[in-house]
Amino acid sequence: MVDKPVPVPAQAEVLIRIDAVAICATDLEIIHYGTPALMEGGPPFNRNFTSGHEYMGTVVALGEGVDEFAIGDRVTAEIHAGCGQCKRCWLGMYTCCLNHGQNYGDVKKNHRANGVTTDGGFTEYAVNHINTVIRVPDTMCDEEATLAVTADTSMYGLTELGGLVAGESVVVMGPGPIGLMAVAVAKSLGASPVILTDTRESRLKIGTSLGADHVINVKNTNVVEAVKEIAGTIGVDYVVECAGTETAINDAIHMTNRGGKICLAFLHDPATIDLSHVIKNNMYLYGIRGEGKSATHRAMAFMAEKQFDASLIHTHTFALDNLPEALRYARERVDDAIKVVVRARGAEQQLKAVSS
Ligand SMILES: [Zn+2]
Ligand SMILES: [Zn+2]
Repeated sequence: MVDKPVPVPAQAEVLIRIDAVAICATDLEIIHYGTPALMEGGPPFNRNFTSGHEYMGTVVALGEGVDEFAIGDRVTAEIHAGCGQCKRCWLGMYTCCLNHGQNYGDVKKNHRANGVTTDGGFTEYAVNHINTVIRVPDTMCDEEATLAVTADTSMYGLTELGGLVAGESVVVMGPGPIGLMAVAVAKSLGASPVILTDTRESRLKIGTSLGADHVINVKNTNVVEAVKEIAGTIGVDYVVECAGTETAINDAIHMTNRGGKICLAFLHDPATIDLSHVIKNNMYLYGIRGEGKSATHRAMAFMAEKQFDASLIHTHTFALDNLPEALRYARERVDDAIKVVVRARGAEQQLKAVSS
């Protein structure tokens, strides 16, 4: 724990007092390896950097000219603010900022990624551009509000596949937080049936609560055959692949119907993929990098309407002072942890103020 000055919001920014922040696998990667949070080409360690990117809180100060938000508003914050200057950010693809031909992260060009290239949420205060700030309904608790930033990647993936999935069959492979939220978002978008595959019964059970019509435990099963048994021999219309393995991606390809679409959310290393099957069957593969196109706003819209209960994936809460233990729970999945949320100081009083 270190003392840092409270940041001052500039034009079109607000200062957020952070009330809750969820831990994400990306945080663990940043803390242990540096990537994707490379600062000026190097890891962020010992540079006075604060990680954490899935946070919500209360607006406590407004930058010059800000009238979109008021002091006291409860808000959640999208991770990225686009530079507004390059082609990709202009199109809403701000995880693919083209500044200087690099991925992103040039603060001088106004690009920011909370807790990835600029200071994030394992702290008490953060500034955010108003375009990245989203109101939290009074009926939603702080912990659930942090999960809009998890559901946004699932929302982005599904809308990149085509968005309107009403009546289309969707398989989600890999029920980590983003896979589980993909089940919920697909169901909310009208997909039918929604099928979830994994080896862990506990995760499949949560998937059912979030809207999966069928779950398949792939432990001793041929997953492609099992999917086709449910969806018909032609295969499914969409697959959201969140398991991130070579086998899973090849299974995804073989369970998708001709002309179908596959969203690839994770894969760290090069893999051998049956691309001839993709070509011969006119399939579409979509890589997604985080979120974009205001997906956080759209995910929050579903959550505010109670289309699904994102809090089903929130399993543990720790105080900010206990951050190392919270990170350990997330990293080692202690007690079957899925989403571990850290509550900042002062949040308890705020919760009472909101409810009184
Ligand atoms: Zn995350
Ligand atoms: Zn850009």
